[in-house]
Amino acid sequence: MSFESLGLAPALLRALAEQGYTTPTPIQSAAIPLALEGHDLMAGAQTGTGKTAAFALPLLQMLGAGGEPTQRNQTRRPRALVLTPTRELAAQVHDNVRAYGKYLHVKSCAVFGGVGMGGQIQTLRRGLDLIVATPGRLIDHMQRRNVDLSAVDLLVLDEADRMLDMGFLPALKQILGALPKQRQTLLFSATFVPEIKQLAAQFMRSPRELQMAAPNAVAAGVSHRVHPVDADKKRDLLLHVLAADSRRQTLVFSRTKHGSDKLCHHLEQHGFRAAAIHGNKSQGQRTRTLADFKNGKLTVLVATDIAARGLDINHLPAVVNYDLPMVAQDYVHRIGRTGRAGAEGLALSLVSREEAGLLRDIQKLLKQEVAIETIEGFEPTWSLHMDRASAPAQRRPGPRNSNPRGARQGWGNRERSSSEQTPRPAKHAHARRPHAAQGEAAHTAARPGTGKQRRNRNDRQWAKPR
Ligand code: AMP
Repeated sequence: MSFESLGLAPALLRALAEQGYTTPTPIQSAAIPLALEGHDLMAGAQTGTGKTAAFALPLLQMLGAGGEPTQRNQTRRPRALVLTPTRELAAQVHDNVRAYGKYLHVKSCAVFGGVGMGGQIQTLRRGLDLIVATPGRLIDHMQRRNVDLSAVDLLVLDEADRMLDMGFLPALKQILGALPKQRQTLLFSATFVPEIKQLAAQFMRSPRELQMAAPNAVAAGVSHRVHPVDADKKRDLLLHVLAADSRRQTLVFSRTKHGSDKLCHHLEQHGFRAAAIHGNKSQGQRTRTLADFKNGKLTVLVATDIAARGLDINHLPAVVNYDLPMVAQDYVHRIGRTGRAGAEGLALSLVSREEAGLLRDIQKLLKQEVAIETIEGFEPTWSLHMDRASAPAQRRPGPRNSNPRGARQGWGNRERSSSEQTPRPAKHAHARRPHAAQGEAAHTAARPGTGKQRRNRNDRQWAKPR
């Protein structure tokens, strides 16, 4: 299939050719025609498989259909709105929109917090067609009457499950209230849980569902490895792991802002070109740090989950979970920063005794074994085993290992570690505490064949939809 056959305008085809895109990815082939026909969409596709273009191209085509700029005496009211959970993602999506739309007369801007309002106010008041925004700052502009959303007939929620979770929902409802009811709504996410789908269905019109891989699937080229370790040895183990290939760029996830700073300082003291990115940094620092990491000035980026979603870091070879995420789905997003666009990647998790339960949740979500490897000199004083059914306190009748993945995932107790995202999500009512590690038998399971060759941009092998 070619981009031409999707019915895209020549101006878009030219821009795509300049980007080096020759073939649409599966999510693009599936979503673009449906979106152009005017359907609402609920689309699940692995991170790094071209979701941005899958919604941006039809959006641009529909906005640029006339081809002519609006008459001078008319102020353009925005007709399309893309909402993202983080500022970095808003900036990235807007960059892509500009690149794809460079030969169209579509005016767009990115609206997110942490930077001055002035420039955004001027751009909004001059009039434009498309806004890419984080909800908090957009609401600020709505309240100050800087923007009129009453003509928005195209809405996209990127990282939709995050946008619809408890933290963002009030803000989202406020924005939805300012949009016309008659509109087209497109939802894109790498992860979806049924509750979120039900919620989304309430403000969509007979959405078409697209699921390009098993829900919550991770890219095939990523190998998952776990190093069990005592909590007080984690820092040294991280140094050991990073030193093993000190030129390899690595994104390290830490659960807290303070923890990220401390870890970063420690790495710098040991000679690593490292920086931290989290919600207590100014937006200027966040932008600079991410740019420095993207262009290779930094070898290690220590981040909270602020960097977990959607960020496209070219050929990032490795992600380390210094702390496991509290919610298993965040693992999918975190490690989605590596192994993008058909490349290979390594997802390494340093797991302490307290995190064993979180690891089991992750394994259940991934529906695949992860390789567990003890590192010499860092042997834990406890043993990790992945079979919850055989843990002494929860022993169930039936043979050992009879149904290691059978138990239902408990999504009721969710905690997000993302209070630094925009807008500040309300804390969840029920915080989920890590399970205590129990049991004695170490369990090692190698993951079968992960070896995809890294490919050139023009020659990427995209996973086939299942
Ligand atoms: P995304 O999932 O939108 O973040 O895209 C992941 C990466 O794939 C980005 O670097 C895009 O520039 C790239 N990409 C998206 N669509 C295509 C395509 N059709 N051909 C080649 N690269 C693409």
